Amino acid sequence: MNKSIRIYLLIIICFSSCTTKVEQPNIIFIMSDDHAFQAVSAYGHNLNNTPNIDRIAKEGAIFNKGFVTNSICAPSRAVMLTGKHSFINGKVDNIQPYNWNQPNFAKSLQKGGYETALVGKIHLRGEPQGFDFWSVLPGQGHYYNPVFIENGDTIQIEGHVTPITTEKSLDWLKNKRDQNKPFLLLYHQKAPHRNWMTEEKYLTLFDDKTFDPPSNFFDNYEGRGRAAKEQEMKIDGHGYWGHDFKFLSDPFTGENTNFDRQLSRLTEEQRTKWLDAYTPKNNLFRSMNLEGKELAVWKFNRYIKDYLRTIQSIDDGVGEILDYLDSNNLSENTIVIYTSDQGFYLGEHGWYDKRFMYEESLRTPILMRYPKEIMRGTEINQLIQNLDFAPTFLDYAGIKIPKDIQGKSFRKIVNQTHSEWRDAIYYTYYEYPSVHMVKRHYGVRTDRYKLMHFYYDIDEWEMYDLEKDPSEMNNVYGDPKYDNIKEMMHRRLQEMREQYGDSDDLNEMHLERYLSKIKN
Ligand code: CA
Repeated sequence: MNKSIRIYLLIIICFSSCTTKVEQPNIIFIMSDDHAFQAVSAYGHNLNNTPNIDRIAKEGAIFNKGFVTNSICAPSRAVMLTGKHSFINGKVDNIQPYNWNQPNFAKSLQKGGYETALVGKIHLRGEPQGFDFWSVLPGQGHYYNPVFIENGDTIQIEGHVTPITTEKSLDWLKNKRDQNKPFLLLYHQKAPHRNWMTEEKYLTLFDDKTFDPPSNFFDNYEGRGRAAKEQEMKIDGHGYWGHDFKFLSDPFTGENTNFDRQLSRLTEEQRTKWLDAYTPKNNLFRSMNLEGKELAVWKFNRYIKDYLRTIQSIDDGVGEILDYLDSNNLSENTIVIYTSDQGFYLGEHGWYDKRFMYEESLRTPILMRYPKEIMRGTEINQLIQNLDFAPTFLDYAGIKIPKDIQGKSFRKIVNQTHSEWRDAIYYTYYEYPSVHMVKRHYGVRTDRYKLMHFYYDIDEWEMYDLEKDPSEMNNVYGDPKYDNIKEMMHRRLQEMREQYGDSDDLNEMHLERYLSKIKN
């Protein structure tokens, strides 16, 4: 071979190998708002049927120990975007501002060659940064005829927010994105957030069914501290006849509930469908003259049915997105994650809402599909947190994970090439005094135990043995049998606070900021 041919071949070999870049996967990050893992049928609770969400787990992985760091809407989203705890990213409660100027994983992916979009609910004020296209609900948004802010312009769209968010996402996938780039889509549903206003086609779903409440629905909070006793999130006690149970007038006092004000958003046709569905059910309730426990169980049923109905529309949307990937040959190279911004009480302890570090709101559903790396039917039992999404996405995209990100990539956990992982998670909650009156607290959870400290207008510790007491009915903090465990958990808590940079001084600072905001 003469010299010039050798050089020519070398150039060809170098050119082909030097330009062979690993194909970056597309990412669809689906998040809904307040979707309890108990209401994803893949988790086996038999409440409802979510075949499309389940499909993600069937063809990929289900996470049995997915948790949040702070169980409330806007702070959870800030943690998800930044990969940092609330006390580091600054968005500790729904009241404090979120600083969009700080780094987030969408900005990094955009810089790394991705086409990025955010559609639906983000619940963080200010112009989203890191997205080539964004169309978001202002604040909580509306279920019917919602307003969107789309790349700065305000538009109102007739219809129900769940299918509209799906249509907008599909429209971006089909028509708006640069087809030559890998894409990141944050497809974020408002549902099933309170007050659970169902899409018209599901207004009568579950009408023929009666749900049994959880076994601790009539919890009297004995064996727990003041925080559990003094909350204001009981379905039978704090739910409103209008806003929550959809009555135009209070069935006992006859007073106007102001629910007609909410229905006034609806078109004449939508309103007629609503009244046709609810009036006979509400009249039947009035004729039954229920009281005591029967009344409480009726309220539970009204709540859980409306809640689950809104989830049915979410599941339909997930199906449409998966179908789009299938029919465009994108399923193989697209990571699909389904999760919620936190868990929710579906009658456990008699409650709805979230906020507490108790299991139902600490946990969140996580299901993930990526056929290239994740085996069908994988189960993940490690302690994963919403803190871990940002570094995981960067890892898959081949982008360096910044050192100050506090979460960890779970890529090697989910593809099962690595098993070493954290043995405890850290939690903080700040929004008190506020609606639902869940006291300020922080805590640590290991695989088996949970230690929590409630503070501010109280100084109480609670500890649970989750193996013996998975429903957390019995605080063992003062039980001498657990003295060694207590000591170990206190040590673990202190280590985690140091590791993540949290402290009593920071709590004091957040408290002062909060109190001055709510005073104004
Ligand atoms: Ca939420």
